[in-house]
Amino acid sequence: MRIDYHMHFEYGSYDLEWVKGFFHHARERGVDEIGISEHSHTFVEFKDLYFEELIVDESEIGRYQRQWLGKNKFRYSLNDYMQFMGELKAKGYPVKTGIEVCNFRNQERVREILAQHQFDYVIGSVHFLRGWGYDFSDLKFVWDRYRLEDIYDWYAAEISGLCASGNYNILGHPFNIRLFKHFPDFDVQPYLDRVAAALQQAGMTIDVNTGTLYRYPVAEISPYPAFMETARRYGLPIITSSDAHQPEDCGRYIDQAEAYAKRFGYEDVQVFTGRKAVPHKLK
Ligand SMILES: [Zn+2]
Ligand SMILES: [Zn+2]
Repeated sequence: MRIDYHMHFEYGSYDLEWVKGFFHHARERGVDEIGISEHSHTFVEFKDLYFEELIVDESEIGRYQRQWLGKNKFRYSLNDYMQFMGELKAKGYPVKTGIEVCNFRNQERVREILAQHQFDYVIGSVHFLRGWGYDFSDLKFVWDRYRLEDIYDWYAAEISGLCASGNYNILGHPFNIRLFKHFPDFDVQPYLDRVAAALQQAGMTIDVNTGTLYRYPVAEISPYPAFMETARRYGLPIITSSDAHQPEDCGRYIDQAEAYAKRFGYEDVQVFTGRKAVPHKLK
């Protein structure tokens, strides 16, 4: 079975004309089932959490992030989303309803929001470190302010927090902190083990994501080989995904992601329904 479980409709809107293209490209690439994982910043329910979590002061980071939060965010309610996804399913589209939630400190609040709706799966992704959106290319200069080893430590701590909350099924794009090619010159294995052990204990799946292959300077699938090896050793299951933001990217390089996973001994992908996973043979 071929799945693509991480993508976003946010550059368009919830209408059939926009999303048809995603299904079209999925079919062309032999993808049997897609899953939509709208960002939590699409939904008004999460708005307060962003203003609590992110630096939004008068600093350069704060000004940029405030502007980012003001652009095309919080346009829908989760009810709008659920209703639209229900319509797609009723029409027979092979689709699952997911969500990609940013790493908030207030996991209690996240739990309350998520509990109101029936998702097929919930992805937790680390996008922020100490209130800074480390993947914004406009804030790339912030990387130079910190030791890379501290960044790895913070990143691992954020993942542990997601795992401990019990709110998530899947960790999104693990170790995408490599996106701008800041490569460690220290031993990272202790961080990889720490993350893998936390995920294992939480019963979480990892997202083998090709978005970092075609959307970021690092041009590699996430997670990178050293974490794939570690994940396999800890028995962490996988999904495959394209992180598409445009219809034509749906299913992009999924065949490569499958071949990549097989290199590490993976044979199955997880198919989620109502937050329960069933393994299916990789195509
Ligand atoms: Zn993400
Ligand atoms: Zn994403």
